[in-house]
Amino acid sequence: MTIQPGWDAVYVADQPPPWDIGRPQPVFTRLADQGLLRGALLDAGCGTGENTMMAAERGAGALGVDVAPHAIERARGKAAERGSTARFEVADVLDLGQLGLTFDTVVDSGVFHVFDDEDRARYVVSLASVMRPGATCYLMCFSDRQPGTIGPRRISQDELVTAFRDGWAIASITAETFAIHNFGGASEAQAWLAVIERCGPGSGA
Ligand code: SAH
Repeated sequence: MTIQPGWDAVYVADQPPPWDIGRPQPVFTRLADQGLLRGALLDAGCGTGENTMMAAERGAGALGVDVAPHAIERARGKAAERGSTARFEVADVLDLGQLGLTFDTVVDSGVFHVFDDEDRARYVVSLASVMRPGATCYLMCFSDRQPGTIGPRRISQDELVTAFRDGWAIASITAETFAIHNFGGASEAQAWLAVIERCGPGSGA
């Protein structure tokens, strides 16, 4: 597996990383309130699992996967404490076919933007391999509206459109914010939320 080094280390540092805020991202809570986080749900690159557990609480059959073993250990610990039905596995989101599962809903909170161009293409193929026709991916990434250069790679709307061109339909891309901490005193960062549907056979895509 091609893993960017250091992901596990961020979860054993004294201070939790900027995105690990101890509660779900408000944007995903809103999606759950709208009844959109449903069915067999994959939280790709789930970190310590707050979004996964929130989806499980709302009735989704939720699985969170992450490459960082300490993140998964922490997610499992929180799920046990809270009596959550969410499940967690160490897995590479660039090779999701290995799971041998398919999903109705995929959550990506801050993962698409971690990959370089080559791995981005692999990630999209990997997502396609586990999403049923008509399944929806809710993808929130760092946005090119975020000033400065510190933090993850900025993503433009055009890059999202290009990445999900073949076999997908982008229903919407909207400006949102990530809730963050331990990031130069800021409490939010600019994001795009893309709602991306997997086309079925015969759709011409
Ligand atoms: N979704 C989480 C974490 C976002 S940070 C949240 O909202 O809190 C990006 C996450 O992607 C990290 O937890 C990192 O370990 C994970 N990650 C990076 N590359 C990965 C890969 N190839 N496979 C699975 N997880 C990966």
